[in-house]
Amino acid sequence: MESSLTHDEINILQIKQKEFFNSGKTLNIDFRKSTLIKLKKIIEENEEQILKVLLEDLGKNEIEAFTSEVNYVIEEIDILLENIDKWSKDKKVKNSLINFPSKSYYKYVPNGVCLIISSWNYPFGLLLTPIVGAIAAGNCVIGKPSEHAPKASKLIKDLINNNFNEEYIKIIELKGEETNVLINENINQVFFTGGTEVGRIINQEASKYLIKVNLELGGKNPCFVDDDIDLDVTVKRIIWGKFFNSGQTCIAPDYILVNENIKDIFINKSIEIIKEFYDNNKFKIINKKHFDRLINIIKKEEVIYGGNYSEDNLEIEATLCSTINYKDEIFGPILPIISYNNLNKEINKIQNPLNIYLFSKNKEKQRLIIENTNSGNIVINGTIHGIVNHHLPFGGVSESGIGTYHGFDSFETFSRKKGIMVKSFLFDNNKIYPPYNIPLKILKKIIKVLK
Ligand code: NAD
Repeated sequence: MESSLTHDEINILQIKQKEFFNSGKTLNIDFRKSTLIKLKKIIEENEEQILKVLLEDLGKNEIEAFTSEVNYVIEEIDILLENIDKWSKDKKVKNSLINFPSKSYYKYVPNGVCLIISSWNYPFGLLLTPIVGAIAAGNCVIGKPSEHAPKASKLIKDLINNNFNEEYIKIIELKGEETNVLINENINQVFFTGGTEVGRIINQEASKYLIKVNLELGGKNPCFVDDDIDLDVTVKRIIWGKFFNSGQTCIAPDYILVNENIKDIFINKSIEIIKEFYDNNKFKIINKKHFDRLINIIKKEEVIYGGNYSEDNLEIEATLCSTINYKDEIFGPILPIISYNNLNKEINKIQNPLNIYLFSKNKEKQRLIIENTNSGNIVINGTIHGIVNHHLPFGGVSESGIGTYHGFDSFETFSRKKGIMVKSFLFDNNKIYPPYNIPLKILKKIIKVLK
């Protein structure tokens, strides 16, 4: 990572962005669209480079890298380009009779200078996707990638900083603990993707300046498997969702709660599908710290399949275990499978995960999970499939996050609603002014009639 900007340089940059925002240029919808079109072209022209750094930093294969990072951002750009005119139109609301004659409406206005901080696990997609939303809503952006995917971080910095004016969009590389220098009175919104603990620090820092905050945090996502399922399809959907990106996905199923009637056949099928899907069964872990954390989990749990690893290559086998003592999110290729006999009892233990998954054909059990649990999102009969639909809001609740984005929610998240009333001089109701010479009883009757 190159030497970072000094405090003074950061301050000057943020003030420049504030001035550019105040010039009103980003309010122009055609300006926003042309920025998005330019960004899309840059991504398409540099696809090969992007896939290369994702392989080097994370060992991502090109299919997963293309779908979950490159195409993921492009789809978000396309949806916003398609809808930006409609979403940014003034929205009329009803008038109140007391204000007759007048008109009332609201408009989405940008928040100003947005700071977007992202994690290493999808270094390209998780920085660029919110940046796309911020641009579409008419903001200026400072992006801070994670230092743990250094090649991706440098490439994003080069692609953005060489193609856009810094007073509009700028990428700054900083180490984690240095990041807070970016949060100050010049920032209007902080959008953070990362772990819950750092999310708390960001929230605290932003609260000093009363800055709007979005937190996209971690998830210990339970996956319920009922006995009323198509077993083959269920296991394929779970194994794919779990081991995608070596299990380093915030919405990966963290552990399985399987109906005790089918526990054994579920485990056998899982082993069969792992063998079918992964020829070499080696999952690359981002760094030694996370590798050691995962090996410690393997050592403490009862492994029923896999469990081998290579310290030299930071690789771990797809591992199944029959216990779950680890309290934090696993965030790696280890899948605990435990059984349940009472779904009601189990769902009462769940606390605010990012996602909950249920595999069941039973409509009543589906309803139970949808209505009686509290999570960011729910996917029935699927796992990470849910995030592919950009039309669905995405975000967590409490420890798993604050706020939603993707599609319309991205546009809305990076905007605020400004309510506007325009009154006419044609008529003025003198009764509303002091000294209020109207009995309260009569006033109440009038209010009732005017409602
Ligand atoms: P992290 O919290 O360690 O780091 C995230 C970002 O914060 C990085 O850019 C880092 O440089 C910065 N940072 C680190 N320490 C900081 C500090 N003290 N002050 C300010 N900034 C600091 O997270 P990570 O390890 O990069 O990512 C993994 C976590 O992110 C997991 O918990 C995962 O579930 C979560 N995640 C959530 C989502 C989501 O959309 N909800 C998506 C991906 C990852």
